[in-house]
Amino acid sequence: MPLLDVLRRLGPQPTLQDWPGLINAYRRWLPVSKATPVITLREGATPLIPAPVISERIGRGVKVLLKYDGLNPTGSFKDRGMTMAISKAKEAGSEAVICASTGNTSAAAAAYARRGGMRAFVLIPDGYVAQGKLAQALLYGAEVLAVQGNFDRALAIVRDVADRYPVTLVNSLNPYRLQGQKTAAFEVVDALGEAPDWLCIPVGNAGNISAYWMGFNEYKAAGHSKVLPRMMGFQAAGAAPLVLGHTVDNPDTIATAIRIGNPVNKENALKARNESKGDFMAVTDAEIIEAYKLLGSGEGVFCEPASAASVAGLLKRREEVPQGATVVCVLTGNGLKDPSTAIEHNDSHFHTGLDPDTATVARVMGF
Ligand SMILES: *Cc1c(COP(=O)(O)O)cnc(C)c1O
Repeated sequence: MPLLDVLRRLGPQPTLQDWPGLINAYRRWLPVSKATPVITLREGATPLIPAPVISERIGRGVKVLLKYDGLNPTGSFKDRGMTMAISKAKEAGSEAVICASTGNTSAAAAAYARRGGMRAFVLIPDGYVAQGKLAQALLYGAEVLAVQGNFDRALAIVRDVADRYPVTLVNSLNPYRLQGQKTAAFEVVDALGEAPDWLCIPVGNAGNISAYWMGFNEYKAAGHSKVLPRMMGFQAAGAAPLVLGHTVDNPDTIATAIRIGNPVNKENALKARNESKGDFMAVTDAEIIEAYKLLGSGEGVFCEPASAASVAGLLKRREEVPQGATVVCVLTGNGLKDPSTAIEHNDSHFHTGLDPDTATVARVMGF
């Protein structure tokens, strides 16, 4: 069902302002009822941006598109899951939510919980959360608890707390998260009129890859597409448990959003890979940064380092992409989340300390 049809069901002459958020747009696919209070910031309907420079690098008529989920209200795809998780928590009468997070989940949980009039507690690995994400959690009014341990440890603690105390867990163990996130697959099919041949996606806790696979399957079963994509999941080399086949005790990568050693949704991700004849592969931090810079300076798209793993992976596997294939790379988060990585890793000329006169500026410009 093309995106415009989704809107037309809401009124005869839809405008973009009519986009009601993903729960109302895709209501019949989601476990909500009239009794569910929809807590939304109008997330979803993110653009699928053609990537001519990357397409050219792959060659052979391959068409690469970027699903830029960094344009969601809090700047990452986590909003898709959080609108569902928080709406269902509200419906159940919950007054507080808790999550462990490498940053984006806490930003989304904070925004949606506060929007719904709930308290938000977020546990983050002390010192390993990008600055923009921390700023968001604080500004949205979360209670931020930085623990001296990695994400996996923080998750173990919040699971325990949610078991013992009256707070709702909104990590991707919460089944409503994946339900909301699957709408990204619907949007891709609605925009293309068919599923892509490949879906390239960064993998941390593996919730997103599992959710996309669920979405593609549900849409195909309903006749909205004829094919299913190969699910190509990319992990950072220092945090690649699904590639290695075992837990990584001290995950390490510049891509903090996927700095995860023990993925919560491992089983679902393995199923997605096996059923789709897809693959998991590791990309190095150097490859991630190459792709990150290429996306910025080649395509004009600023994503965060973890997101660039999808493009790094595609470039690594480019020989295998079938001629004329359509490839969607998921850009999970906005580059503004992590300005320090951009300032440190770029190929631009940054001329500082110049005398404030035209002659100096013109000379530096090369005139
Ligand atoms: C959460 C996140 C990921 C990883 O998604 P999973 O569902 O944990 O695999 C990737 N990129 C960004 C920007 C994220 O916030």
